[in-house]
Amino acid sequence: MSPSPFTAAVDALPAPAEKPVVLRVTASAESRLRAGHPWLPVEQIKSESRAGEPGDLGVVFDRKRAFLAVGLYDPCSPLRLRVLRARKSGPIDDALLDERVAAALARRVSLPATDTDGYRMIHGESDGLPGLVADRYADTTVVKLYSHAWVPWLRPVLEALVRHQPVERVVLRLSRQLSAVPGPLFGLTDGQVLMGELPEATLTWREHGLTQEVDPVHGQKTGCFLDQRDNRRRVGELSAGRRVLNLFAYTGGFSLAAARGGATEVWSVDLSAPALAAAERNVALNRHVPAVAAARHVTRRGDAFEVLRDLQSADESFDLVIVDPPAFARSNAQLPGALEAYGRLAKLAARLVTPDGTLLLASCSRPVSADDFLATVSAAARAAGRPLRDVRETGHGLDHPTDFAESEYLKAVFATV
Ligand code: SAH
Repeated sequence: MSPSPFTAAVDALPAPAEKPVVLRVTASAESRLRAGHPWLPVEQIKSESRAGEPGDLGVVFDRKRAFLAVGLYDPCSPLRLRVLRARKSGPIDDALLDERVAAALARRVSLPATDTDGYRMIHGESDGLPGLVADRYADTTVVKLYSHAWVPWLRPVLEALVRHQPVERVVLRLSRQLSAVPGPLFGLTDGQVLMGELPEATLTWREHGLTQEVDPVHGQKTGCFLDQRDNRRRVGELSAGRRVLNLFAYTGGFSLAAARGGATEVWSVDLSAPALAAAERNVALNRHVPAVAAARHVTRRGDAFEVLRDLQSADESFDLVIVDPPAFARSNAQLPGALEAYGRLAKLAARLVTPDGTLLLASCSRPVSADDFLATVSAAARAAGRPLRDVRETGHGLDHPTDFAESEYLKAVFATV
């Protein structure tokens, strides 16, 4: 056997327990699981055969003692079981994980042909690996865990990932939810390198032929927002000869797409100075593209709501305005406040758009439905005297498949105003 390519931290991880936890669940949970829903929340559990550890297998039988589901048990999370197999039983082993990874990668084979080497390889539940995400940035794979239950299973997942898509290095990220609760991590830490080494130079990757920096260790999510790829392409198609305002710009992904699409001037606005510095460097990295070199790039650090008011007072206007804020709602309790904020942003942004210009409004708040989002921003734009026309709603790209309601988090609305 060849030596393990992984660091000692991976070799030190424990193997999962052999004996499953047997769960009895409520009648409504039975029907949800039977319908293929990947989650079993703790309040739907009636009894557990023993106190399980994160990563133990949990098996659910229905009232007639027929097999219903098996998955990863996590006592640290209110999502007590994440389902790996439902309705039909079968082994949960390295071979299954390998099969799921291979199937996920097969769904994405068309992407590299678009001069794109950064994309989501594994999108959790929708790729049959609930609570686990893997993103690729050129020669770097970033694995992000949303549940302690993956810790004892991490090694076979890593093996499958690098077997099917060899890379130079693998970086681990731990989700906010996972970091917020105590649970066994066996020395794993957020940002840890699990294979290879980080180079001295900044890592870069490509999207539709544009080069961008990524910091997989400290960056948001796994480094960049891969979920907006298709919307960035569309922004590029809409930018020729236009003056573009990109609010919540982060490292300037939309700005770069607009510049390459022929925008005369692009403004990147963000609260974060380091994000704007990265946006500047990303523009510089693509200076060899004539359209990018020709576009004037302006950065403005500040709160987007205040910048919008300042720009309005200064009588500025833009032909295309992009509004892609961070999630305003993480729970249903935050929903009203989030909708109010989306409405306020839509109103302020719509007023800055030149007549017959374009507005792009996006929301990555999971509790906000596509219908509520569209209704809210439409009402706000109407109230601003700039009703939305030619509305086009978009969502995730093909590497962010969604197959149950809770997985549809990204909503975007393109409209003429
Ligand atoms: N559109 C980006 C992703 C946006 S992430 C892309 O395609 O890559 C959200 C960004 O909003 C972060 O960079 C964060 O620094 C910034 N942000 C958060 N609150 C803000 C505020 N009130 N005003 C301006 N920027 C803000």
